[in-house]
Amino acid sequence: MRIMPGAMLGVIGGGQLGRMFVMAAQQMGYPVTVLDPSVDSPAGRIAEHFICADYADHSALKALSMQCAAITTEFENIPAESLRLLALSSVVSPDADSVSIAQNRVSEKQFLGTNGFAVAPYAIIERHADLTAQDIVDLLPGILKVSQFGYDGKGQKSVANKTELIAAYTELNHSVCVLEKFMPLVSEISVVVARSRVGELKTFPVSENQHVNGILDVSIVPARVSAALAEQAQSMASQVAEKLNYQGVLCVEFFVLNNDKLLINEIAPRPHNSGHYTINACVTSQFEQQVRALCGMTLGETTQHSAAVMINLLGDLWQNGKPDWNLILQHPSTKLHLYGKTEARPGRKMGHYTVLSTDTETALREAIAIKKQLEQNLIRNP
Ligand code: ADP
Ligand code: MG
Repeated sequence: MRIMPGAMLGVIGGGQLGRMFVMAAQQMGYPVTVLDPSVDSPAGRIAEHFICADYADHSALKALSMQCAAITTEFENIPAESLRLLALSSVVSPDADSVSIAQNRVSEKQFLGTNGFAVAPYAIIERHADLTAQDIVDLLPGILKVSQFGYDGKGQKSVANKTELIAAYTELNHSVCVLEKFMPLVSEISVVVARSRVGELKTFPVSENQHVNGILDVSIVPARVSAALAEQAQSMASQVAEKLNYQGVLCVEFFVLNNDKLLINEIAPRPHNSGHYTINACVTSQFEQQVRALCGMTLGETTQHSAAVMINLLGDLWQNGKPDWNLILQHPSTKLHLYGKTEARPGRKMGHYTVLSTDTETALREAIAIKKQLEQNLIRNP
């Protein structure tokens, strides 16, 4: 059954990804209800309806499912049980099983390994004794990552040796962790893929991602990799969606090693920061695709019509008040997106801008020049 414009859609989570879903849905004529525990959220503020409640609040979930013909999520850290409950009376995508695999690094790695996808060498650390196992040294230097609730580099520590590993495990409160070997990355890329209710698959062009302090800084699209590597990444992302029997929009993050070797880093069961360029540079955005997949529609064309470079705007740029937006807006082919967050904290994603051009090198040059000006302006006005 297709869910037509006019029907109410629901989204769990009121952050910027939820907000961009709401905008895409509203543009197509679907009103939206947002569920989020904070009183004021970027998506909650612009939605037709807002339910302020915890993600596990049964009566709130019931109200959501009564109001909405179909429900999706903007982030993975919701109890899978909540999605199961909603699915009893509404169309829900992605489903609880996919989300529960992607929300936990242990189940994610096991899923990837079982299905033959290459990942960085790792060990599961469930208790202190696991840190002293014989083969742990083979994974050093490495990165210790909590199995759940980590994001933007939070909940992870680089460890050079066993002493640092033990200290890091204590610092991470002895929670279940994954220790990953530190990989010599040539670059990082990602692919956003959508899979419809009838199994149709569409991938977006490959994004090349640069991170600073574990947070996405710059996305360059199309990625500066060989056509063969791009095709391989897209095909792997599609296979991940197939193996999960996934419905909706999914992002697969990859590590590129020497000789074009690809490893899967992680999976996000939702649109992704590295796919924001699609809003301005593709025929269909990742958020329209999320609406289409959720509503059982034919998936939108993913062709990219302009080269694009996206740069994140973190709260650090607000230290001396609002940035000078004209530094961005004076460029006729640059698109500013602000998420409507009232409080700017260092490392918090406040917005982004996307520079469009005929080629990636020109877009990258312009995007970096703008970034430098924004940063210099900060120093000039202390
Ligand atoms: P998050 O959930 O915070 O995005 P990731 O596991 O994707 O966590 O790690 C964030 C970033 O840290 C990656 O994009 C990459 O730049 C770096 N990183 C993570 N794991 C490794 C690794 N095993 N080797 C090298 N760099 C890594
Ligand atoms: Mg990541």
